[in-house]
Amino acid sequence: MIGTGDSASSRAEQRARALERAEGAGVRLVRFLYCDNDGVIRGKACGASSLAERLETGIGLTVAMQAFTMLDRLAPVEGMGPVGEIRLVPDPSTFVIAPYAPRTGVVLVDMVTCEREPYAADGRYFLRRMIARAAALDLELMAAFEPEWTLATPTPAGGWEPIDRSLCFSSQGMQGVAEVIDEIVAALEAQGLPVEQYYPELGWGQQELSIRHAPALRAADNHLLYRETVRSVAARHGLAASFAPKPWPDQPGNGCHLHFSAWDRSGRRNRFAGDDGGLSELGQHFAAGVLQHLPGLIALTCGSVNSYRRLVPQTWASAYRVWGLDNREAALRLPSPFWGREADSVNVELKACDSSANPYLALGGLIAAGLDGVERELPLPPPVTVDPHLLDEQERVRLGATRHPVGLHEAIERLENDRVLMDALGDRLATSYLAVKRSDIEGFAGEDEVFEYETHRFRY
Ligand code: GLU
Ligand code: MG
Repeated sequence: MIGTGDSASSRAEQRARALERAEGAGVRLVRFLYCDNDGVIRGKACGASSLAERLETGIGLTVAMQAFTMLDRLAPVEGMGPVGEIRLVPDPSTFVIAPYAPRTGVVLVDMVTCEREPYAADGRYFLRRMIARAAALDLELMAAFEPEWTLATPTPAGGWEPIDRSLCFSSQGMQGVAEVIDEIVAALEAQGLPVEQYYPELGWGQQELSIRHAPALRAADNHLLYRETVRSVAARHGLAASFAPKPWPDQPGNGCHLHFSAWDRSGRRNRFAGDDGGLSELGQHFAAGVLQHLPGLIALTCGSVNSYRRLVPQTWASAYRVWGLDNREAALRLPSPFWGREADSVNVELKACDSSANPYLALGGLIAAGLDGVERELPLPPPVTVDPHLLDEQERVRLGATRHPVGLHEAIERLENDRVLMDALGDRLATSYLAVKRSDIEGFAGEDEVFEYETHRFRY
């Protein structure tokens, strides 16, 4: 029905399996979740008695929701007002039992019109389309979102502060939060999200816990399940987890670096792996496409007003449009491959990405940009081997090392002027996305910094 690539029978089997698991776990409510245009995870839940039917027919949703902002304002978008309905139809392959809520299931949804067509303003549908574009070139994108987040504890005054003042990678930092981290790891693995690495990051209370890469759609889905899990388990410990790009002015930002590679569709060969152990020609074209479209793409990967407080030089978040081998100040980093898995582990990391982004839009936009580079065989500029902030002006010009947009207003302007990204998004999605961001810009322009920090801190 909605172009999932799954046959009707395999979807029916997936629904039957989800139902069986829900019954087996004594689930009372199943949350039907999606990520809106402003990076907020929202949804509705259905009771167990109607689950069998709802897995197939979904739950109704007002068309207004894709024009809703993270301030719960309704941005003005034609056709996204009080009249009209879409349906949230589960992708049953995403069903999980939530380990952090009593007798609760979670399933991620596609937005479908009442005419049973994919909803043009649905970010998940956009990512599916970009995956299909890649498939036409026999490419399957693999990706991993690598989130940083800050554990916070209540203050006597009723606010929140970072849970500790742990040093970067400190073993004492690990030990101090071991209980809650253990529960988070267990909860992630129970949902089929294998944990790769964990460490306390540079900031006070800042954590980095990465999960294994997966095919693009699954990687974006996983990031939603991940955010739900981390926030919810932290709350069960009386704590709060901040995924905001810049939760506190005097602390490092929370990135959500996006790692990606393209494989042939049999999944056997990493097409980013070059013969010399570096990036293949295809990988170079793809990365060149991402670099070329980066100023507009950033509107999708760094989607909040708060995002641009993070993208400053010499914070390892990236501030310049450059790439480099193991260069942590570059927008695109080519990490050294893993020993013994050299060809398989070649991937590129986009640093200019954070958890206020809708992961479907971030990844879909990245694929559109990368494929444009592949189709036009764009050459990759020379790598930058130093901190780009230390280059002189002439060198920066030679390398095309421009600064990222300084604010969301500049980024969305760049997006609006990027034909490739706008065409990929399509009119409905692009129009609603831009309207939502403009509403945020206006909403925060009239407020002070404290309001901005507080509003973003626990939104994602
Ligand atoms: N916290 C940095 C950021 O905002 C990243 C630090 C690192 O992982 O190297 O992206
Ligand atoms: Mg990090």
